[in-house]
Amino acid sequence: MSEYDFDLFVIGAGSGGVRASRMAAASGMRVAVAEDRYMGGTCVNVGCVPKKLFVYGSGYSESFEDARAYGWEGQGAHFNWATLRDNTAKEVARLNDIYRNLLSNSGVTVIGGRATLIGRHEVRVGEDTYTAEKILVATGGWPTVPDFPGSEFAITSNEVFSLEVFPQRILVVGGGYIAVEFAGVFAGLGAETHLSYRRDLFLRGFDKDVRTFTRDEMGKKGVQLRFNHQVTAIEKQDDGSLLVRDDTGDILVVDAVLFATGRNPNTKGLGLEKLGVVLHKDGTIGVDDNFRSSVTSIYALGDVTGGPELTPVALAEAMALVKHWQTGKTAEIDYNNIPTAVFCQPNIGTVGLTEEEARQAGITVEIYKSDFRAMRHTVSGRDERTLMKLVVDKSSDKVVGAHMVGPDAGEIIQGIAIAMKAGATKTVFDQTIGIHPTAAEEFVTMRTPVTQ
Ligand code: FAD
Ligand code: NDP
Repeated sequence: MSEYDFDLFVIGAGSGGVRASRMAAASGMRVAVAEDRYMGGTCVNVGCVPKKLFVYGSGYSESFEDARAYGWEGQGAHFNWATLRDNTAKEVARLNDIYRNLLSNSGVTVIGGRATLIGRHEVRVGEDTYTAEKILVATGGWPTVPDFPGSEFAITSNEVFSLEVFPQRILVVGGGYIAVEFAGVFAGLGAETHLSYRRDLFLRGFDKDVRTFTRDEMGKKGVQLRFNHQVTAIEKQDDGSLLVRDDTGDILVVDAVLFATGRNPNTKGLGLEKLGVVLHKDGTIGVDDNFRSSVTSIYALGDVTGGPELTPVALAEAMALVKHWQTGKTAEIDYNNIPTAVFCQPNIGTVGLTEEEARQAGITVEIYKSDFRAMRHTVSGRDERTLMKLVVDKSSDKVVGAHMVGPDAGEIIQGIAIAMKAGATKTVFDQTIGIHPTAAEEFVTMRTPVTQ
């Protein structure tokens, strides 16, 4: 009989924590998981899932307009915020139950409440103390808003899904995934939408062509982009609206200000430092290749470790960790060529190196690019374009980067990512017969490099 209550105690039932708990229980470990807020974590409750549903919702305004050219006549529909908000909340609640059942059906003990570490093998939740041979910290992150006068009037992605009233005018601050996605959502839902970013072009780290193309497409859809722009103060006015001041002295009046300026790891108050767990400067937990912290019984994965903040990464880490425990072999996880999508309108899908990264790495690159109007819009007349780009290493002929801005880019790039993982060369892309008529076929029909 083990000297501990559990073989594994997981803190946080988010993407990583749930997957690790279920896999560990399936491998015969006695597992408990503590969750203090919502089953399924950020992704299910205030992230990927409600966000994607909002993105779907926001796309209908254009679909209704485009349908006219296809012969659909009739009165224009009008948008009801409460319906989208409440139906989304219902779906999230359904998923909460599914996650809870998945855990209990796997034999995992689910404990409601905030957990803190009080020993190298001891966790406290409320009045109760539990012991475990291994403790896994999978507590994720929390949105951060910089400190400035009136910052308390800003909302974050945590609140945006449950707003009482739809903001007819909104300012989104930030230039990363969340800012760009929500600017698209609110513009699509009919709000006057402004996006403020502190540097000259948003989506830092993405391919430059993707960034400029997205800027142009978002501009066409009516998002008012303010680059090299910094919010300095927010004042609440008597009518409830928000007066926003910027660093040039300009003012803007809106109904909501959404800050999407990054997320901090949930490590504060967990008791990690007292136990000697080494944290990085930004508060993320330092782990080795096997997700072990500087304290041998304490492990961590997912957003709290400061890697790519993506659900599939947290899931892959959880599976690699449990496999490592089962086999004793080093956790196998490859952080190269992680595909990702930004669900702005149109979507961005990307995998591998940007042109800039490839050149910086000393690769002699061949660039293939296609910029076209999707077939749907030849009849709808919508002035929306699609971009596809391949970055090829000339010496090996390998495709080292694939980028797309266009409808369903995430869906398309997922398949390209498999090809790249398998080491596909440009010749293999060329030998692949396209599916016609699709946008995706463009990825196998680009024959002439645009730059070398
Ligand atoms: P989380 O899912 O954040 O889970 C951590 C859990 O720990 C939470 O449930 C929290 O309540 C709990 N917890 C924290 N502290 C304690 C404690 N002391 N005791 C008990 N419980 C605790 N990723 C994608 O791949 N695709 C997307 O489209 C996407 N969209 C996103 C949209 C938004 C608006 C946001 C904010 C994020 C999005 N992400 C997306 C990122 C994704 O949600 C995260 O990368 C993922 O959820 C990380 O999983 P995790 O297990 O590390 O942490
Ligand atoms: P990001 O880190 O992606 O972007 C933060 C943005 O805020 C950057 O543009 C940054 O500017 C800017 N910023 C940071 N600090 C300040 C400040 N003090 N004042 C003004 N601007 C500031 O964070 P997000 O919040 O957008 O998202 C968090 C993470 O969640 C993402 O990185 C992503 O991994 C994940 N996510 C994934 C999604 C997906 O897969 N589709 C969707 C949503 C989130 P600068 O460029 O100058 O640093």
